Amino acid sequence: MALQLRPNCEYCDKDLPPDATDARICSFECTFCADCVETKLHNVCPNCGGGFVPRPIRPAKEWRQGLCVATRSPSSTRVHLSYGHDDIAALSQRIRNIPPEDR
Ligand SMILES: [Zn+2]
Ligand SMILES: [Zn+2]
Repeated sequence: MALQLRPNCEYCDKDLPPDATDARICSFECTFCADCVETKLHNVCPNCGGGFVPRPIRPAKEWRQGLCVATRSPSSTRVHLSYGHDDIAALSQRIRNIPPEDR
């Protein structure tokens, strides 16, 4: 199973192509931009409560057979929030001071 490499930030809908350096994912691959993770979510995933890490960049060049962006296409399905901004802010407020490894 490869990462889906979802195409956008769930919060602000910014495009996050496979080579974006500001894409962040949680363990379930909920995907957000670095700015939203920092300023809106405070490292709390609104869908699962976990923390985020930078999403790895899938190589554009086929260094190894069959393993590059062209042969293993990123997802084209845009994902949008299933919670309101107030709800998300409240969850973040409750969880943000607990380190991800203790959540
Ligand atoms: Zn965003
Ligand atoms: Zn999540």
